[in-house]
Amino acid sequence: MEFGITLAKMPTYFENGVHYLLKADADFLQMNALIGRKVGIVFLNQKFCSGCGNQFKDLFRMGFCRNCFFTNPRAGESIIRPELSQAHEGKEDRDLAFEKEYQLQPHIVYLANGAGLKVGVTRARQKLHRWMDQGASYALVFAETENRYQAGQIEVALKEYIADKTPWQRMLKNEVPNLDLVAEKRKLKNLLPADLQKHVNEDDQVHSFQYPVQEYPAKVKSINLDKEPEFASKLLGIKGQYLIFEGGRVLNVRGNTGYRVSFSVL
Ligand SMILES: [Zn+2]
Repeated sequence: MEFGITLAKMPTYFENGVHYLLKADADFLQMNALIGRKVGIVFLNQKFCSGCGNQFKDLFRMGFCRNCFFTNPRAGESIIRPELSQAHEGKEDRDLAFEKEYQLQPHIVYLANGAGLKVGVTRARQKLHRWMDQGASYALVFAETENRYQAGQIEVALKEYIADKTPWQRMLKNEVPNLDLVAEKRKLKNLLPADLQKHVNEDDQVHSFQYPVQEYPAKVKSINLDKEPEFASKLLGIKGQYLIFEGGRVLNVRGNTGYRVSFSVL
């Protein structure tokens, strides 16, 4: 079986554990079913921008060409740094209609443990997908806000005390420390300025995620499709947005957004 695929973030769903799909031109591949199988990936030396859709020799960042990265609202500053959101003041960054729709909806600030404690912000309805995309083993809603700006303010305050990134190699090796997220929530709430504490909710449900991984690697080595355009290996698991192969070799699917590949199940 061979599929043409322009790589992009794998859609996820939760059903007795985390499930991954890979969108091919005409199908969605149920990736969990391929674990334990040998698969081949051939980079076809074509890259497509996820903004304008045009083909480029190289993409700039986040799957965008240089022009789209600096002009597309999906690559706006507030996407990466929620505290820079300004739609709540009616101010445009790149496209006010897009920014209003995106920013002026319920957001959450969360605590997650993928390989240590971290804080993050996401749209409330996206939270499960966000946690699975990051390979979180545990996650807890810390605060709920009306918009992205408020969530960004809380995140900035919490970043004084805890990380906002997951070390991806440790996440893939499944080095998950024992943490009491509810206790961390109590402690961090008290460190917040009074005007931000009102957003901290009473929800103490710790969500936990099991990933489809047969065997976690002891060492991790990332596959670079530009340098190694063709490889075949047994798929041992999927975690975050990474395919994990034999020998600790991993492919960051989302990190290769826009790369055109031929994907085959051998
Ligand atoms: Zn573009």
